[in-house]
Amino acid sequence: MEKLTNCPVCLGGDFKEVLSCTDYTTSKEEFVICQCSDCSFRFTNPRPDIKESGKYYQSDDYISHTDSKKGLLNKIYQISRDYMISTKYKSTLKKYNAKSLIDYGCGTGDFLKYCLDKGHHAIGLEIDESARKIAIQKGCQEVFNPSHLEELSDHSAEIITLWHVLEHIHDLQPTIQQFSRLLTSNGTIVIAVPNHQSYDANYYGEYWAAYDVPRHLYHFNLQSITRLMGNEGFKLIETKPMRLDPFYIALLSNKYKTGKMNPIKAVFIGVMTNLKIMFNITNSSSIIYIFKKQ
Ligand SMILES: [Zn+2]
Repeated sequence: MEKLTNCPVCLGGDFKEVLSCTDYTTSKEEFVICQCSDCSFRFTNPRPDIKESGKYYQSDDYISHTDSKKGLLNKIYQISRDYMISTKYKSTLKKYNAKSLIDYGCGTGDFLKYCLDKGHHAIGLEIDESARKIAIQKGCQEVFNPSHLEELSDHSAEIITLWHVLEHIHDLQPTIQQFSRLLTSNGTIVIAVPNHQSYDANYYGEYWAAYDVPRHLYHFNLQSITRLMGNEGFKLIETKPMRLDPFYIALLSNKYKTGKMNPIKAVFIGVMTNLKIMFNITNSSSIIYIFKKQ
């Protein structure tokens, strides 16, 4: 375990423990979430160091990197993912008219393949070896370990996407600096992350599944991600809600809280979250932040 003594966003040293969450997916261990007194950023602390983090991803239930179609939760995940891929494409590469893409944390390569089929130059980076192999089998040729990031040429991508990835990265600041180097001038970076200020996060508290400790090292909101990216010269230009996420997160959160997924309640919480989004995007379970390099 490693214990952070400075806030990863503002480098302040004053923070307090705000939540204690259980890792329901793999270890069943408890992890503390701290909040910075200065910038209000939340982070898991202490956290597994980079060498020991691998074991917290070893679970049949950890579906982000697999194509398993077993079980209700996996089926819902697959259906929503297929819908999301085309939505992601339209709101990013198509909207910002970008030809070249780096998808950081590409998983099994579904979004990458979709972009390749649309005629884009698309490179994927993925830490999980078996996920990389699946992506390559699907026809994504340029899929590498994230350590390959440093070898990619300056200004080689017009857009970089991170779909639920930034919250997993140990070396946060150096990685964002690499993104800045790789982007063309006025390039776009798209970051989708859970939002701990959301309606469903407030409802479920420590049981909110998107805390997902200790795999999620950071817990963002609009304020903290804007400051983090601003530190590296990125300006926020657009935010978009992820409307399907709260349904899936509510199913999991119900399971953590009561032992049952309770689909009716999950639909209710998902609908309520979406209604609240109409008044303020900070109610959204996950948010897509679009930044431009300045
Ligand atoms: Zn801070």
